[in-house]
Amino acid sequence: MSLTIENMQEYLNEKYKRTKPEEMKNTQRYFLKLIEEVGELAEVIRKDKRMVDNNIKGTIEEELSDVLYYVLMIANTYNIDLEDCFRKKEELNRIRYGHTLKIDDI
Ligand SMILES: [Mg+2]
Repeated sequence: MSLTIENMQEYLNEKYKRTKPEEMKNTQRYFLKLIEEVGELAEVIRKDKRMVDNNIKGTIEEELSDVLYYVLMIANTYNIDLEDCFRKKEELNRIRYGHTLKIDDI
C-alpha cells in the first residue's frame, strides 16, 4: 500500500488514540522532539550516512523519517490537513517564484 500524508496522519491519530490519548494535544513536546530530530538529521547529513541493505539505523533516511513523524504529529495536534496546506502553499510559491508547473499537473 502506498502511503499518503493523509494516511500517515490518520494512522498516527489512531495509534495515539489507542495508546496515549493524553499526549494527542502535546504540541510543545512534539515541537521539542522535532528540533531534536533535526539535530540528529544534521549530524547524519554531515557524516553522509546513507541507508545500505535496508539497514536504516543511524542514517539520513532514518532521521528524515523521524522529522516527518514529528511534523505529522504537530499537524495532528491542531487537526491540520497537511496535504491541503502543502497544496495551498505550493500555489503561493508557484505564483511568487514564477514556476509554470502546478501541483495537479503531475
Ligand atoms: Mg532520530
